[in-house]
Amino acid sequence: MAGDHHNPKENLMLKEKDKIFKNLYGFEDWKLEGAKKRGIWSNTKELIGMGSEKIIEEIKNSQLRGRGGAGFPAGLKWSFMPKDSGKDHYLVVNADESEPGTCKDREIMRNDPHLLLEGCLVASFAMHAHTCYIYIRGEYYSESSNLQKAIDEAYENNLIGKNACGTGWDFDIYLHRGAGAYICGEETALLESLEGKKGQPRLKPPFPAGAGLYGCPTTVTNVETIAVSPTILRRGSKWFASLGGSNNTGTKIFSISGHVNNPCNVEEEMGIPLKDLIEKHAGGVIGGWENLLAVIPGGASVPLLPKSICDTVKMDFDSLKEVQSGLGTAAVIVMNKSTDIVEAIARLSHFYKHESCGQCTPCREGTGWMYRMMEKMIDGNVEHQDIDKILDVTKQIEGHTICALGDAAAWPIQGLFRHFRPEIEKRIEERNKKVA
Ligand code: SF4
Repeated sequence: MAGDHHNPKENLMLKEKDKIFKNLYGFEDWKLEGAKKRGIWSNTKELIGMGSEKIIEEIKNSQLRGRGGAGFPAGLKWSFMPKDSGKDHYLVVNADESEPGTCKDREIMRNDPHLLLEGCLVASFAMHAHTCYIYIRGEYYSESSNLQKAIDEAYENNLIGKNACGTGWDFDIYLHRGAGAYICGEETALLESLEGKKGQPRLKPPFPAGAGLYGCPTTVTNVETIAVSPTILRRGSKWFASLGGSNNTGTKIFSISGHVNNPCNVEEEMGIPLKDLIEKHAGGVIGGWENLLAVIPGGASVPLLPKSICDTVKMDFDSLKEVQSGLGTAAVIVMNKSTDIVEAIARLSHFYKHESCGQCTPCREGTGWMYRMMEKMIDGNVEHQDIDKILDVTKQIEGHTICALGDAAAWPIQGLFRHFRPEIEKRIEERNKKVA
């Protein structure tokens, strides 16, 4: 276990005073009264008083990167919204959270919904949007129930609605429940679904900031990104940027699942070593650190990392990119040596095959073909040259589709072959011996 006398990372644990999500575990009251005790809605009028440009400037200076997976700079994204388009503007909060292993937005919406709602007001104001839609995955029943109650409370107390918080800004929030398709987490598919159509991604350009919901300027953004924004404005961009490292700033909610003793969500400083995250917060790997086989560090779609990399890698966008993986949604899926790693990745291939919307040939046909090949690989029931063939197919899918689902289906397989190729070769040889 970490925590022994020579552990140099001990002081990396995020201090209580720097936590943004003070009710992540739902130990306190999630309703308005409780939220106010935690400082939410305390000076929203002043924050709005900063004006649109200053708010966006502060978010830019904080170096906040989107928490939904892609890690795009949030302030820059907000600044893409036109100033005077003559059309309605929309903020759409992506609460579809369907990436396997990811369960962080769920906790925000269930246990601290007002944090999100205050963020919706401030961010919408900055982007000249009088209307915000929150698109929540249909399975999140308690979350949508709590969120709707919080929206009602906010209306009753004039925090949103006409003259929201006494700022003179009229602002409405609508909660929309999805019907359970992974692809509706893709921003343009989400907009299609919100418009009442089949949830299929749109070709880009045009980008949503130019023509989004109902053809109007729209920003689609993740729950966590919006929820941290009022605290950044309150405490200042310098404070947020002082946490983590350059270009990888702030705090982050990590969802740790799989073969750990204490699966959990935890808010930590960006850049915490993966080993510390697992040992200090999740009770360590079942069977000890030496029993670790691999970790998927950012939700199902990012390539896995073998133990040798997990020993030292830091949990931020750039460090994980350097080792050919990604922070994604920061959903850490831990697999110890009891895992059949080929079967685990084949299971993910099945998921992507099932969730492909079918618009693009490489994704529609490729995900099914890759899944069938992966199933055969579990028992080594392929030829040696098939390994390169399937890798070649992943390259033909990656980057050649309308949306990132094609990439998401290709990357786990690429990660498997990058780090566990000998394991598959061994299975092929063993099967060949048996058959011969
Ligand atoms: Fe649909 Fe797949 Fe194409 Fe995305 S990549 S639009 S999910 S077919």
